[in-house]
Amino acid sequence: MKAIVVGAGPAGLFCAYELAKAGVKVVVVDSGSTIERRKCPMKKMGYCVKCSPCNLIHGVGGAGLFSDGKLNLDPRIGGDMLQFMSESEARRLIDYVDRIFSEHGAKGERNIIDERAEALMRKAKMAGVRFLPIVQRHIGSDKLPEVIESLKGYMEALGVKFVLNKEVRDIAVSDGVARGVVARREVINGDFVVLATGRGGAQWLARKCMQLGVPTNYQPLDIGLRVEVPAEIMKEVTDIFWDPKFYIQTSQYDDSVRTFCTCPNGFVISESYNNFICTNGHSMVSIKSDNTNFALLVRIALTQPVENTSEYGESIGRISSTIGGGRPILQRFGDLKAGRRSTWERIKRSYVKPTFLYVTPGDVSMALPGRIMADIREALEMLNKVIPGVAEDSTLLYAPEIKFHALRVNVSKHMETNVKNLFAIGDGAGVSRGIVGASLSGIVAAREIAKRCRNG
Ligand SMILES: Cc1cc2nc3c(=O)[nH]c(=O)nc-3n(C[C@H](O)[C@H](O)[C@H](O)COP(=O)(O)OP(=O)(O)OC[C@H]3O[C@@H](n4cnc5c(N)ncnc54)[C@H](O)[C@@H]3O)c2cc1C
Repeated sequence: MKAIVVGAGPAGLFCAYELAKAGVKVVVVDSGSTIERRKCPMKKMGYCVKCSPCNLIHGVGGAGLFSDGKLNLDPRIGGDMLQFMSESEARRLIDYVDRIFSEHGAKGERNIIDERAEALMRKAKMAGVRFLPIVQRHIGSDKLPEVIESLKGYMEALGVKFVLNKEVRDIAVSDGVARGVVARREVINGDFVVLATGRGGAQWLARKCMQLGVPTNYQPLDIGLRVEVPAEIMKEVTDIFWDPKFYIQTSQYDDSVRTFCTCPNGFVISESYNNFICTNGHSMVSIKSDNTNFALLVRIALTQPVENTSEYGESIGRISSTIGGGRPILQRFGDLKAGRRSTWERIKRSYVKPTFLYVTPGDVSMALPGRIMADIREALEMLNKVIPGVAEDSTLLYAPEIKFHALRVNVSKHMETNVKNLFAIGDGAGVSRGIVGASLSGIVAAREIAKRCRNG
């Protein structure tokens, strides 16, 4: 029996890995090609910082290849895997994924939860902030390509066939059963189809779900800013947790704000969409900046009359790009508090040097809705009680940072849709939001497929 996996990001790769280990024939089809990535003029950094990772053709590794490579080794982070399995099972699978990454060269240390973590938790509690201590491993964006290359080679030796540069346009279904995929007029037949198209392929996947009658739901949106401070300010915390997870419930709007994707000694980067531009961050093992950046995000869920959080996020993205002249906006926190825009002169006078210069100095409150700005300001001031200095006048704010979450595809606990033998996994199906969660969802689907293959 043969399985076709569409997408070679972490979800697709781990699904194919597990299938091949179980002796199932696998073809992985991806619209990208890793050769393209190597043409990038900044290839020594692993990817081009100026054009965003999302703009590039992905290929083997998917968006995961261009990520910061933080492995959040906790089932409560990166998508709710606990909807699909017990906590002990999730932790077992997480250790399994971590081991595979390590075997293929992910060398970063795993942090440990010790008394320093407990002290930090106590300090956060006293400031009215929730801190979630989790185990993490940092691979580094510059090391990820080697890890993915090693994993790919190993899988090829197991018999996995990679078909790159081939976009899947359709899914072949007859009598309510998936029979294969259609890629550029060519039909690739298979007994099982696994869709792992990531956020980049989420709209295509949503369209296909609608055509096939697979139910979907909107998910909340995360919207806010990227904050950049001198690395020393956060060192005490980032020495223990590479990507510390703080949660703040704001008093004015009772909204939930969280820190996300902290990049110690990292770099702020852009993330381009069709008609607007956002920010993101990454950090490397070999090249370090003097700053640490992290996203501060407000969770927005919409009910009625509009549930479409993506449309809401996109309209904010467009306003922001309009006001920034097609670039992200950069403002010092002190200028925001003083109600004036930042200028290059003011930024140059400041002692925090921005790591990302493809920006327009301006006023972030012109770009983001008042409620989001109030939440961010309140959250930053509260965070300052846990990490003194984080809400200094010189703190840099880049806007916007938006985390779109794909429509959640209704899948069974084995990741199967209501079309028999058609599975949807990873970020594109809205079941994960990170490398580890995506990988787990791939393994879950693979194990079910392998079981059915064994049972004929
Ligand atoms: C800048 C950045 C930093 C990040 N940092 C981290 C981090 O530190 N830690 C973390 O856990 N997560 C991080 N993430 C998120 C992480 O990369 C994703 O959660 C993860 O890659 C999702 O895996 P996936 O397999 O579901 O999708 P993807 O990795 O997006 O892979 C999907 C693949 O499907 C292919 N595809 C799409 N449509 C089609 C089609 N129609 N036909 C054929 N192929 C198709 C794409 O080419 C792509 O290769 C980061 C993301 C970005 C952008």
